[in-house]
Amino acid sequence: MKIVFATGNPHKVEELKAIAASMGRDDIEFVLPPKDFNPVEDGETFEENSFIKAKEANRLTKMISLADDSGLCVEALDNGPGIHSARYADSAQARIDKLLKAINTNKNRKAKFVCAMTLLDEKGHIIFQTRGECHGKIAKKQAGTHGFGYDPIFIVENTQKTMAELSEKDKNEISHRGNALRKVLHFLSTAN
Ligand code: IMP
Repeated sequence: MKIVFATGNPHKVEELKAIAASMGRDDIEFVLPPKDFNPVEDGETFEENSFIKAKEANRLTKMISLADDSGLCVEALDNGPGIHSARYADSAQARIDKLLKAINTNKNRKAKFVCAMTLLDEKGHIIFQTRGECHGKIAKKQAGTHGFGYDPIFIVENTQKTMAELSEKDKNEISHRGNALRKVLHFLSTAN
């Protein structure tokens, strides 16, 4: 089965492929959307934005389309940056610096990664929508070199490690994207 994964982030595709392979779903081939894929992510929720991305990929390819929309929600920052995580500042390091400055010495460092996924059929109709979460807290300083985005400042619940200190395999087992994708793959295996 061929599924277009509506993203411009090759890192996410690698994560998806690894998660699908770990579930024995080597039969699913994830492909990237064409170069003119440029959705306007103006939804107000992770779910709405994942639908917008999947719809645009489907419009361009007429294929079964999967999209995720994800971000980091920090309790002390009114659950921000949330859906604005990718645009919070100009570079990955600037986003980390801005977030550490915003939370400063706040004692409440509770945070969660959220990932909404929307799956559309060839005709562009929603066939499945789900959400995965990963809970933890914001570190006082960054650590680790794996992963991407806010991984170096997110300490995974019940561990002393940031997401960026986990191996790719360990991250995929507990991540918001891993949790959401496992639900999508479970849906696909029961639907066929
Ligand atoms: P999206 O590509 O519109 O879903 O934006 C997601 C943004 O949230 C990314 O650019 C990252 O800044 C952040 N993000 C989402 N998932 C992760 C993750 O697994 N690790 C670190 N940052 C993430």
